[in-house]
Amino acid sequence: MLKDYCNKMYGRDLSACSNEEIYVALLEMTKDLSKDRVSAEGKKKIYYISAEFLIGKLLSNNLINLGVFADVKAELEAAGKSIYDIEEIEPEPSLGNGGLGRLAACFLDSMASIGINGDGIGLNYHFGLFKQVFENNFQKETKNPWIENSSWLTKTDKTYEVQFGGFSVKSVLYDIDVTGYENRTNKLHLFDIESIDESLVWGDDIHFDKTQIAKNLTLFLYPDDSDEAGHMLRIYQQYFMVSCGARLILDEVKAKGCNLHDLHEYATIQINDTHPSMVIPELIRLLTAEGISQDEAIEIVSKTCAYTNHTILAEALEKWPIHYLERIVPQLVPIIRVLDERVRAKYDDKSVYIIDDQNRVHMAHMDIHYGYSVNGVAYLHTEILKNSELNNFYKIYPEKFNNKTNGITFRRWLLHCNEDLAAYIEKLIGPEFKKDATKLEELLKYIDDEEVLNGILETKKARKLVLKNYLKATQNVDIDENSIFDIQVKRLHEYKRQQLNVLYVIYKYLEIKKGNKPETPITVIFGAKAAPAYQIAKDIIHAILCLQDITANDPEVAPYLKVVMVENYNVSKAAKLFPACDISEQISLASKEASGTGNMKFMLNGAVTLGTMDGANVEIAELVGEDNIYTFGESSEQVIEHYAKSDYVAKDYYINDADIREYINFLISPEMMKVGNAYVLLRLHAELIQKDWFMTLLDVKDYIRVKETALKDYADRKTWAKKMLTNIAKAGFFSSDRTIEEYNRDIWHLS
Ligand SMILES: *Cc1c(COP(=O)(O)O)cnc(C)c1O
Repeated sequence: MLKDYCNKMYGRDLSACSNEEIYVALLEMTKDLSKDRVSAEGKKKIYYISAEFLIGKLLSNNLINLGVFADVKAELEAAGKSIYDIEEIEPEPSLGNGGLGRLAACFLDSMASIGINGDGIGLNYHFGLFKQVFENNFQKETKNPWIENSSWLTKTDKTYEVQFGGFSVKSVLYDIDVTGYENRTNKLHLFDIESIDESLVWGDDIHFDKTQIAKNLTLFLYPDDSDEAGHMLRIYQQYFMVSCGARLILDEVKAKGCNLHDLHEYATIQINDTHPSMVIPELIRLLTAEGISQDEAIEIVSKTCAYTNHTILAEALEKWPIHYLERIVPQLVPIIRVLDERVRAKYDDKSVYIIDDQNRVHMAHMDIHYGYSVNGVAYLHTEILKNSELNNFYKIYPEKFNNKTNGITFRRWLLHCNEDLAAYIEKLIGPEFKKDATKLEELLKYIDDEEVLNGILETKKARKLVLKNYLKATQNVDIDENSIFDIQVKRLHEYKRQQLNVLYVIYKYLEIKKGNKPETPITVIFGAKAAPAYQIAKDIIHAILCLQDITANDPEVAPYLKVVMVENYNVSKAAKLFPACDISEQISLASKEASGTGNMKFMLNGAVTLGTMDGANVEIAELVGEDNIYTFGESSEQVIEHYAKSDYVAKDYYINDADIREYINFLISPEMMKVGNAYVLLRLHAELIQKDWFMTLLDVKDYIRVKETALKDYADRKTWAKKMLTNIAKAGFFSSDRTIEEYNRDIWHLS
């Protein structure tokens, strides 16, 4: 009981403790409870290596998974305290950028929940991803310290010396317990350096001396895949992570009696995107150091490693110049050359070489040749990999390619973030859906039940109120809970096309000014961080913040259209936004979003998707049927053809279509110039007309048309509630428990 912890730790009653003290007591209690559930290790273990684990706050989720959330909540209430206030005390670790890191966190939860012997391996970034603040309608980046004296980290005594070209660093290993839902406890292993120096970072800044590797290695998460700066540091981080990880794995299997020749019977290494790819040559190096021949070492590693591809964006597929590697990890270069020579000896197709003719090492190519599995993360994405992006590899290794459509953990994205809805569902169909998400389909029997449809609408309304109050308290903005909450939250990237939504806002603003008022008021909510060096992305944020300003201060418009940009979008903000959403914006350029997982979180919480036929939206559409989703825009085939033929010219749309011209020109209107920066707005205006690499103007008319239909349909509350119910009922497929079961069935083969 919590009160015993308080008495023991502070010599006081629960009611006499501060929220901070209670938080620390709960931390201790949770760690003790999860210790009791550590399960026996099987022969084989899966090691999920990832540069990112966007775990979010852990307290409530751990309490839920340990089965004590309701008790703790009640105990706190009886003492005049609130679990929700205590949740606010916990700092949020930001050990990931977005979807990829969040996926890794959902996977750890699912592995522990369905009883799979599987640990995560990553890095302990002290300041993680930057914290976003808005100043004068611009994004500013500040550091996000999250490690306190009492935290989820437990220091271990494991340590390794990691050799770089010219110097070495000593590692420290911290573990975080991963508590499964009423099941086993696994570990997230986060490596750090002993010689880290936080004082390299001044004040709130995110800048530091990038050359002092032995002091800065784990200070920050590399902020994005599209940023040119800091490449060297990134390679240092990657090698540090995989060298420590590989040695931890070898230590663990040896302790179980493995002779290393049959390593693959003891370990599977899932390589999450190319960031951990150097684990392949590093393991080969370590095995040969143990006396195994290089030929055999290559064979062993090829049976142990499996690779997940997360993107087809060329700029995000890592290619490191070999002279970087010669400087940072000289011991790996001869091995990488051997791996490349073997490929060259077998195939005379340059496109599958590991080292290209500009002396760059293609990390994904190494993974595909020397891993035994290659998977994409949604049906469409895997098809595009097989048929175009990686077609030359698919022709060589058809048997390696497989799809694993992403998923999300329902513990966090339903049970925790939307208690009201979870309780209501339980009242309707019982508790089985918590362990078997496909049971949600039973909700469909209520599709014509007025009382249930009203119940669904009421839970949504309640959550919209929670968000309203939260935004008032945190950002001092007022929103109308009776308006339609139209939400686009995700990283800011041109391919995700927040700029398309911006053009809709401009369209709507102009309509209202012309006297065409919407039947139901609309609140367009954005949340997005832009990589610090990604200029266009930051320009788009600037435009959104300007529109927020303009619409809020125009009395003709404010009652009908509101724009809100949520500051510092992260996992805890996400947990407030998904349950409150009516319309889920998933409007990436078809073929560019590998899967998306935000789309799944919205669906599960009863939002209706407005989206392109991209990523997992395709599978959502298939599941819910056309009456329960709004799709628009050109297909992935059409888009791929536009790129192949280079026949998309943004300027033609601008010149030939007066409406489009009007929306775009609003970016440099006197209204915008008054609240914004002329230079930046002109730059964005020119970008959309002259480049528009992600084809915003191609789909803008269709987007506006379909969005208008969705907004009109909202007024028929009963029909809308049926769409909501169908979306919730069909979301079961997107449980990450299903995804992990498929990984295990097809790739890992743990018994
Ligand atoms: C789910 C999630 C994402 C991924 O969102 P997408 O819409 O799939 O890009 C990013 N950030 C956070 C905090 C999330 O919870």
